Amino acid sequence: MYSYEALPVAEWFRRNRELAGFHNSTRALYQTIRELVENSLDATETYGILPTIFLRVAVEDEQKSWVSVYAEDNGIGIPGNEIPNVFGRVFYSSKYRIKQHRGVFGLGLKMVVLYAQSTTNKPVLVRSATLKSDKIYEYQIMIDTNANSPIILDRREYPNKYRWHGTAVKVVLEGNWLGAKKRIEDYLRRTAIIAPYAEIVFKGPDMDLWLKRRTTKLPPAPKEGLPHPKSVDVDTIKQMLLDSRGMTLLEFLTENFDAVGEGTAKAFLEWAGFNPNAKATALTPEELVRLVEKMKQYEGWRRPRADWLSPVGGELLEIGAKAILGAEAVFAVTRKPESYGGHPFIVEAAVAWGGQIPPSDKPLLLRYANKIPLLYDEGADVARKVVDEFHWDNYKVKFPAPLAVIIHVCSTKIPYASAGKEAIAEVAEIEKEMRLALRDAAKKLRLYLSRKEKEMELFNKYIT
Ligand code: ADP
Ligand code: MG
Repeated sequence: MYSYEALPVAEWFRRNRELAGFHNSTRALYQTIRELVENSLDATETYGILPTIFLRVAVEDEQKSWVSVYAEDNGIGIPGNEIPNVFGRVFYSSKYRIKQHRGVFGLGLKMVVLYAQSTTNKPVLVRSATLKSDKIYEYQIMIDTNANSPIILDRREYPNKYRWHGTAVKVVLEGNWLGAKKRIEDYLRRTAIIAPYAEIVFKGPDMDLWLKRRTTKLPPAPKEGLPHPKSVDVDTIKQMLLDSRGMTLLEFLTENFDAVGEGTAKAFLEWAGFNPNAKATALTPEELVRLVEKMKQYEGWRRPRADWLSPVGGELLEIGAKAILGAEAVFAVTRKPESYGGHPFIVEAAVAWGGQIPPSDKPLLLRYANKIPLLYDEGADVARKVVDEFHWDNYKVKFPAPLAVIIHVCSTKIPYASAGKEAIAEVAEIEKEMRLALRDAAKKLRLYLSRKEKEMELFNKYIT
């Protein structure tokens, strides 16, 4: 006899943690830092706060290879009553919105807590205060994986005398510091390249990093948006209809979607053969499917708006790349917004040349998605393919060359190749934009190199 059962979601993730980047004690330590840093950056720059992040990794028990990770930020904080769910319930998030941020799955913190408790059986320690809060809340939390809910082991409140705001997290986990050290360093340096407005202080057992703030300019914060008609499926529409009692189809479309005014909605409904005045909730299941099909096919929508995105911009990329890579020259471009399947995206590229960049046989590639550096699975990333296929010889670059390439994609929905968020999947529209961005940046490099060449010629003429 078979015996059937449903695995609770938290338990499923505990067992399949490699899908979220927690493969082993090296990857898990790196991933822990990553999740905490990403949350800290989301909680600061998205709200106009210049990020200041303190990180510490300390060896707790050498024999068992237990390490502690501490992360503290000056962000908007987490409301006291939300802290347990935010740390103790898988798929609990404030980021299921149409807007660019680093978090997407509502999973990061929970994976950190799950991994920590399954290796050391210790709770996570959280301290947080929201902006202007007169209290600081402190919790010790574990996760009941069968119920997918937080277990609160301790809860305290302190007066917030100095109006501190932000979040501090401490976990103890099995972690291979020596194995993860290099990756963590790379990750933090690469973060500093794309976020030169952040101050990041890291203390490790035998590595200290102080990545200073290089500018006080923040990229424009993304606005929160509505879905584009091309990006939704039948189920999404069904859920939207629950909140649309009494609306006509025309009203439903104009109120719930990006890029749909009354004129566009009317034209679409006529084209698709629907009565604009019919009640939206009266659609039969078959009509619903047809509506979605037509929404995807229709060519008359405006493009999705890019206000939901927050590209870094050429100026910040240049500051970051010069400061961290020690490049002699950096040329950056931000392409115009494009879209795939109704999701807006922007590709940025920079080429960094010379200075302290070591010459090599192919360009050093730094990949980013929504300002997250991607370090693993480079071979699976469409950016690697684009850079490898690029005709560098057309741009006066001869290898070995001191060349680094930065490629950044920002979108309300990055097509990640896995839940570990390490590579961007092959999407034709994105690939094309990467190619064009690289071309635009490489053209500037070519100009620079030929100017240099001429200067050299002149120089040689006078010398000899
Ligand atoms: P995600 O980042 O994908 O939403 P997480 O599990 O990493 O998922 O975080 C869950 C939620 O907790 C976030 O959506 C955010 O609202 C909140 N959060 C996490 N870390 C912080 C932080 N450092 N400051 C403020 N809020 C945070
Ligand atoms: Mg997160």
